Amino acid sequence: MKYFVKVFGCQMNQSDAERIATYLEKYKLKLASSIDEANLIVFVTCGVRQSAEDRVYGQINNIKKKYLDKKIVLTGCLSHRKDVQRRLKGKVDLFCEIKSFPQAVSPFLKGGLRGILNKQFNRKNLSSTLPLVKGECFDYLDITLKYTNSYTAYIPIMTGCNNFCAYCVVPFARGREYSRPADDILKEVKSLVKKGCKEIILLGQNVNSYKNLTPTLSLSRRGSEKKINFPKLLRLIEKIPGKFWLSFLTSHPKDMSDDLIEIIAKSKKICEYISLPAQSGDNEILRKMNRKYSIEHYKRLIKKIRGSFQRFNLSCTAKVEPCISTDIIVGFPGETKKQFENTAKLLREMKFDMAYIAQYSPRPQTLAWKMKDNVSKKEKERRDKMLTDILSKTALENNKKYIGKVVEVLVDKRFDLEEFRAPARKGKVEPWMGKYLAHTRTQKKVIFHSNKKIPVGIAPHHNASELVRGEFRESQNREI
Ligand code: SF4
Repeated sequence: MKYFVKVFGCQMNQSDAERIATYLEKYKLKLASSIDEANLIVFVTCGVRQSAEDRVYGQINNIKKKYLDKKIVLTGCLSHRKDVQRRLKGKVDLFCEIKSFPQAVSPFLKGGLRGILNKQFNRKNLSSTLPLVKGECFDYLDITLKYTNSYTAYIPIMTGCNNFCAYCVVPFARGREYSRPADDILKEVKSLVKKGCKEIILLGQNVNSYKNLTPTLSLSRRGSEKKINFPKLLRLIEKIPGKFWLSFLTSHPKDMSDDLIEIIAKSKKICEYISLPAQSGDNEILRKMNRKYSIEHYKRLIKKIRGSFQRFNLSCTAKVEPCISTDIIVGFPGETKKQFENTAKLLREMKFDMAYIAQYSPRPQTLAWKMKDNVSKKEKERRDKMLTDILSKTALENNKKYIGKVVEVLVDKRFDLEEFRAPARKGKVEPWMGKYLAHTRTQKKVIFHSNKKIPVGIAPHHNASELVRGEFRESQNREI
């Protein structure tokens, strides 16, 4: 019996897919190499944009046209939506929220192939989202991930969100914030580092609002309860022995405290990469988005972060500046040209290394769903292009600062097709030469050639806007 997990969207969904894989394999299901080969297909969906949603409909329709017997489970951000359940009625066999995935599928998995092919799978649960019972979220996050990459590991430390930004489905799709016990996170990091993992990425929709209020007995002194917030958690992870990079996604500006900035800047393990979504450069739009900060506050934060790195991080080998990435939405309801200009100004001033620019699309249930989507598609495209052009310039400018610097990289990929061996001359074998793609601690992609065979790991999340070309220098630890 075989399964296939189809993932859409963010790293949190990627991480959920790894958790689902572990869970299914516990019931002896094997990973299929393609959808065609699988008996059970799990869709981990994304509801952030209409285009991602449309791709889910398209793929499920195609599967059901071709194969009537395949079972489809739909989880992730679209699973709770009644309109999605109605639209896919008769095509999807089970809808379940990610938090209740074990509870929803285990009755069928226990019955093996017969259980999965059982009509009950379809009839009993169609169009129903199982309610989350107390303690279940804990169980779901407690499933050990089937890490697809031995070098880079994503570790969810919290899920859900309490912020209710006007455009965002996360509080509806994932519920309110829930932070994992610090003990569990530390145990997971220790075990990964011991196995040779080189890059740990902590995940959360609002990662820097992490707050573990449950007693963490193994950390407490004299048995007293110890509350752990995000800076404290980073300090504890940092103390874990071994050489590894530590980073985290995604932070909310309102939770970027001075304490957090200081630990990021001082730490040798925490990477000089900060993802800090601004969403807009205009205060009125930020207010309508319910973002709870002003653009002045946001700019102050960026200055503080850069200033702290200069102050505390001078011992860093490369002495590179921190790489700051942001998220921007263009064409939010009512965004005037002048208000958009403020966002363009923000990008010029802040000189980001990376920006994820999204054209606004209305999402059901959200506050903005009721607002008039009055910026035309053409205008959204124009604004998107304008910001992309500014970003290309600032990213290139920042990348040029790497010229002449020696930095550590983690190798992601070897281009096997482009390997070459020069023709042998006079019976001599020319050295093997490979072309490598790697990334720096600041998430810059680096291309280099080497005649050494360097171990690689695949890290699909790295997508800095510009490539940096480099050359290989031997290091004590080849992977980094
Ligand atoms: S902070 Fe806002 S954008 Fe981020 S997950 Fe929460 S509601 Fe969505």
